[in-house]
Amino acid sequence: MTSQATENAVNAGGCYCGAVRYVVSQPPLVKGQCHCQPCQRMSGGAPQYFILVPPNGFAWTAGKPAHFTHPDLKNAVTRYFCKTCGTQLVTTRQDTSGYIVKIGTLDNPGGFVPRVAICHADALGFHTVPEGVQVFDGLPGV
Ligand SMILES: [Zn+2]
Ligand SMILES: [Zn+2]
Repeated sequence: MTSQATENAVNAGGCYCGAVRYVVSQPPLVKGQCHCQPCQRMSGGAPQYFILVPPNGFAWTAGKPAHFTHPDLKNAVTRYFCKTCGTQLVTTRQDTSGYIVKIGTLDNPGGFVPRVAICHADALGFHTVPEGVQVFDGLPGV
């Protein structure tokens, strides 16, 4: 795939400084918002909005993200971020295949509508959940 083709993709995205780029080529399996405390810490207090992309539907196309897996947490997620500008782009989970992409890093996130709100037990009083969105105290199915 040429970089030109990458930039023309509907669901291309990247970090704030532009060093790290990716493309999403499959429809998301899940569209949601996560209210957990780690997500609040990363976002500045809001829930994080995400899509879960199947494993064959995601590729890094420029740059090499740094990643972090908390050594003190059991089943810790791995968070991928730009080591230059610090933007968080993607999370992977040990118990889920696929890529959890933060929708704010998409070039065109305007079509995003969340369908589930997860880890809502951690939600702060001012967090909102759109009407019709299914709310889970923790993770769905757990
Ligand atoms: Zn960057
Ligand atoms: Zn979270």
